[in-house]
Amino acid sequence: MSENNISIPEIKFTKLFINGEFVDAVSGKTFETIDPRNEEVIAQVAEGDKEDVDLAVQAAREAFDHGKWPRMTGFERGRIMMKFADLIDQNIEELAAIDAMDGGKLFSWLKSNDIPTVANFLRYYAGAADKIHGEMLKMSKQYQAYTLQEPIGVVGLIIPWNVPSTMFFIKVAPALAAGCTIIVKPAEQTPLSALCYAHLAKLAGIPDGVLNVVTGFGRTVGAAISSHMDVDKVSFTGSTEVGRLIMKAAAESNLKPVSLELGGKAPLLIFNDVDVDNAVDLALLANFYNKGEICVAGSRVYVQEEIYDKFVEKAAEKAKTWVPGDPFDPNARVGPQVDKRQFDKILSYIEHGKKEGATLLVGGKRFGDKGYFIEPTIFADAKEDMLIVKEEIFGPVMSLMKFKTVEEAIEKANKTCYGLAAGIVTKDLNLANRVSRSVRAGIIWINCYFAFDMDCPFGGYKMSGFGRDLGLHSLKKYLQVKSVVTPLHDSPW
Ligand code: NAD
Repeated sequence: MSENNISIPEIKFTKLFINGEFVDAVSGKTFETIDPRNEEVIAQVAEGDKEDVDLAVQAAREAFDHGKWPRMTGFERGRIMMKFADLIDQNIEELAAIDAMDGGKLFSWLKSNDIPTVANFLRYYAGAADKIHGEMLKMSKQYQAYTLQEPIGVVGLIIPWNVPSTMFFIKVAPALAAGCTIIVKPAEQTPLSALCYAHLAKLAGIPDGVLNVVTGFGRTVGAAISSHMDVDKVSFTGSTEVGRLIMKAAAESNLKPVSLELGGKAPLLIFNDVDVDNAVDLALLANFYNKGEICVAGSRVYVQEEIYDKFVEKAAEKAKTWVPGDPFDPNARVGPQVDKRQFDKILSYIEHGKKEGATLLVGGKRFGDKGYFIEPTIFADAKEDMLIVKEEIFGPVMSLMKFKTVEEAIEKANKTCYGLAAGIVTKDLNLANRVSRSVRAGIIWINCYFAFDMDCPFGGYKMSGFGRDLGLHSLKKYLQVKSVVTPLHDSPW
């Protein structure tokens, strides 16, 4: 099949990947994955459950306790990971098309950005795999010690649907480098690319049992992973609500450590001295990129009062360039929302915004009559107590508000239970750095947005979670420290 001259790949992998093999779910059940462009079924995918998680954990446990992966040198693990990265590079177009179909993400962005970047995540952590060192400690009196950094064991990686490939590798790459063995649970909305990556991992030479993928639902597969007695750690990205359930399950089972990357409601602070055109472009990007389905979306836009009216006018004008359309169409800038639930949820927030008295500037309704498309939407004159300002919408909906002083901007920015990201736009870098120190968020972008890098840690303050993905910080999540102590004098034994 071909669409806009891009070939739509055949879906080859729809089964669970356990111990190096694609297998049916024990129950034989499957679920549908839907194409959000047209609401049609793309494929039937194996619906895992507790029994399948048990089998995957058993395979991962065996690979960890007796297999080669944790025991080979970091250099050798790195070499295999480099091969895995090369295989991704060789299949960029197909992988991009799969995420575009399954998640409604723009094919061109996936091809030029997401997929090449995940190959580089693997290369970055491959380079770190042979540099995992302990330390020598003098200790006091008659002992000395050294520390070992050991892989934490069998890890469960539970990921969301909004950037399926990025989320897969943001966790899998450091876990592999550390020498862990893995069970990934992709989101039920976007299970397909994870299964392709399992296939490529096998081709690259990752031993059986090291990387397992169990597709299915959160309340079954996700819950079984987080409450499993033989899973040594869970790393989760998703909603704050589910993050809480995962912590509870970990506490009530084997007290496994948990790291959580959760929701957000990022403020974007725009000061009087900016070039308004540039600032509007940045605000639109911060809200409409990936159809707003992004945890760091700068959805609370605070504009200083002197430029507020001009900003509102230009935002309405420039929003028209964010054209919704088929993610395979090179002219489209906003794809469909991932599924019907998300589509309905966003439309209901828009209705709240209208009822609560915010001024609907542009958008505000469904786009077209097929697929889950929503017009990029801007509300002006929003207020802090409105639902659209308080809650994470996870869709293309931006709220504009006014502020007078720097202190007021900081106070408003922090008036949220979240703390994932924030943006500051000003020509005054002293001001930007001062404000950065006062805003409680894990990443602050000054005069830019969505500037991610594999070397730059990313994670939340407050109810946006804890632990950091990316950078060498992330590697530490998959390691633990052992101290080995020896006496300095002759041992009596
Ligand atoms: P979600 O929490 O509903 O689902 C995330 C994953 O958890 C899915 O794989 C799901 O199947 C699984 N899950 C659901 N219930 C579970 C349970 N009881 N036990 C274990 N696992 C369970 O989130 P979502 O709707 O897929 O994604 C949107 C949310 O993710 C938003 O809140 C967004 O902000 C957040 N997110 C955060 C980041 C970040 O880096 N902080 C990145 C992307 C998305």
